[in-house]
Amino acid sequence: MSVLPWHLLPDNAAVGESGRLTIAGCDTIELAREFGTPVFVYDEDHLRARCREAVAAFGSDATYATKAFLCRAMANLAAEEGMGLDVASGGELHVCLSAGVPADRLVFHGNNKSLDELRSARSVGVGRIVIDSLDELDRLEALHGGDGLCPRVLLRITPGIKAETHEYITTGQDDSKFGFTVSTGAALAAVEKAAASPAVDLVGLHAHIGSQVFRVDSFAAAVGVLGEFANPLGLPELVVGGGLGVPYVEGEEGASITQWAAIINKAVTEAGITARVGIEPGRAIAAAAAVTLYTVGTVKELPGIRTYLSVDGGMSDNPRPVLYGSGYEAFLPRSVTADRRRPVRIVGKHCESGDLLVREASIQADVVVGDVVATPVTGAYGHSMGSNYNKMRRPPVVFCRNGDARLVVRRETYDDLLNTDLG
Ligand SMILES: *Cc1c(COP(=O)(O)O)cnc(C)c1O
Repeated sequence: MSVLPWHLLPDNAAVGESGRLTIAGCDTIELAREFGTPVFVYDEDHLRARCREAVAAFGSDATYATKAFLCRAMANLAAEEGMGLDVASGGELHVCLSAGVPADRLVFHGNNKSLDELRSARSVGVGRIVIDSLDELDRLEALHGGDGLCPRVLLRITPGIKAETHEYITTGQDDSKFGFTVSTGAALAAVEKAAASPAVDLVGLHAHIGSQVFRVDSFAAAVGVLGEFANPLGLPELVVGGGLGVPYVEGEEGASITQWAAIINKAVTEAGITARVGIEPGRAIAAAAAVTLYTVGTVKELPGIRTYLSVDGGMSDNPRPVLYGSGYEAFLPRSVTADRRRPVRIVGKHCESGDLLVREASIQADVVVGDVVATPVTGAYGHSMGSNYNKMRRPPVVFCRNGDARLVVRRETYDDLLNTDLG
């Protein structure tokens, strides 16, 4: 029942000709025409600006969590801006290496790295491997041998902080598949074992308290707990993870990366931490940099119940509403500043009733079939979590900058759907 909150749009969003939304000088209605829909449209300078905020505070100890959004253009962008890159699978490693990112800028994460993944990480020389379990340490020891390689590693620890959007409590997080638990003594035992192992060079500790965390005091509390555990060990590095929350809908507000970094740095000083501290933002770099453009295909009015707008994408390009019940805004980019007074439910074209994109949307009242409709803040965990469900072709990704639109990921073709199908 209001105009779209402007802060949900990318930095270089503007109102162009006859009220249309432009992103970095590119007319969104023209983009939909040129590239088809659905399409992810990124403001490249927004991505760069967020990387620069992280690097300004933490230098090369600021690492982009690629799982939020990854393609070769994004990997190169983050590396060019001076960030390291987190990868959490052999596939993410492959994309970053094929983009040309130097292996020593990569940090290899994950709670169940296979022998093959660890072999690759070791042999290409990733900057750090984050060991998540003694089973992984065993695998690294099994790989140790004649090649003289001794990878630098961090140990992932679970500090017993449970971060939530609106509050944090100091128990619960021990119940996690990730890392070595501090409270049971498992973390200390793992530090001793890794420090004594000839197969690895233990340089520090890592923790990540959660994602989409709005309460920045959760991070300060976590840093305090980490300091108590880490300081006596005297290891040179401590990574405090990512997880900064971003606003998706009207009424939400989040800290900037600069504000978040300042709170972490203050807590680091207060905790007497002398190790080099790093952060790993994913969502805070990429989420607000993009909007997704769809085309309305049907308008189904159910008097006294609701109106359904069906668009040409759905849970295959944005599974977050289905997975987490996440909320989004929606608007017509042809009249971006117009009041949105019409309540609708925006759904995808998949064969299930659960396939919804915006459960309770308000949209411009004059919406009709054929309109381009947009959802903002879809730059993180949308494209990267997408699927081929219903054999949908995954959408293209367009980077906009100074009026130029660059296709960095093309739309899949029907033949792409047969790539691995041996018949
Ligand atoms: C997912 C993840 C991140 C990034 O989280 P965001 O919420 O996207 O900032 C950072 N570190 C680790 C280990 C992660 O798993």
